[in-house]
Amino acid sequence: MMGSYFTPDTYANEHSACAARLAAGLCADLSSAIMSGRVNNGFALVRPPGHHAGVKQAMGFCLHNNAAVAALAAQGANAKKVLIVDWDVHHGNGTQEIFEENKSVLYISLHRHEGGTFYPGTGAADEVGIMGAEGYCVNVPWKCAGVGDNDYLFAFEHIVLPIALTFAPDLTIISAGFDAARGDPLGCCDVTPAGFAQMTQMLTAVSSGKLLVILEGGYNLRSISSSATAVIKVLLGEYPANEAKGIYPSKAGLETVLEVLKIQMRFWPNLEDILTRLQSEWAFVSLGNLSLYFIICQGDQSKTYMKNVLTLPSGFSFFLYSLYLMVSPPLIGYPINGF
Ligand SMILES: [Zn+2]
Repeated sequence: MMGSYFTPDTYANEHSACAARLAAGLCADLSSAIMSGRVNNGFALVRPPGHHAGVKQAMGFCLHNNAAVAALAAQGANAKKVLIVDWDVHHGNGTQEIFEENKSVLYISLHRHEGGTFYPGTGAADEVGIMGAEGYCVNVPWKCAGVGDNDYLFAFEHIVLPIALTFAPDLTIISAGFDAARGDPLGCCDVTPAGFAQMTQMLTAVSSGKLLVILEGGYNLRSISSSATAVIKVLLGEYPANEAKGIYPSKAGLETVLEVLKIQMRFWPNLEDILTRLQSEWAFVSLGNLSLYFIICQGDQSKTYMKNVLTLPSGFSFFLYSLYLMVSPPLIGYPINGF
């Protein structure tokens, strides 16, 4: 069996072209089947993955861009607008390149970025689309490894869903890499099967449940299988065990979400109120090397945000607790009335 390389990380042998065509073709068929109403949703368990493959080049294990082929197939089956949500830990530079001038396909990616030092280096928050399609590319670039359920769900609640519901697509495609999953040796992040299930559940509210999930990256077979199983259960109608509530992002995660909101609210005006609300509810400071969180609550909001922490008296209250105990009772927690 002879092998060769398109790029140093994209190998191929005599069977690769056939495998890549089968993968892309399956995604196209599934997309058409969903649009025709023959099925409600679908999961394409395919290899090779696709989201790094661009207009002209194979790259990053990807030969054909399966999600892009599926989106175009959907449009051939009367979908006017298609949303692609990419939660692979790497930015889908190929998908972005293919659709960055296209207002009929909205691309939203959440990925490690770290100032462009994480593969493939693209996907900064200010990459928003070009040539009149500004705002139809939304990048949520994490600043560091270790990102988990809370940061993803926080971004879904405040960025992904508000934009997706405004866009109102006819079909939603998930570029579902599971390399942000807990245990993945390349992604080094911490999304659990429950987290993936909740993100899937949130996207069922978009495009009347017309949802196509396409496998992308993932390098821990146990993590991939448990995560994919959790997603498929949601597609089959099972409601996730843990409802997404009481979400406390990391400091870096919150900073990223605020940065994206500031950039994208130029194109999605409904984000402005969300940004204003988050800025009034959350503030943070760094004291030397010690990062501390402040949550500012007022009146009834305190009941929502402090439910798992303390019950507050009415009026302004001020809370301070350790970044590293976000899901636990506060290290220090005291109300300062009249603040
Ligand atoms: Zn990946």
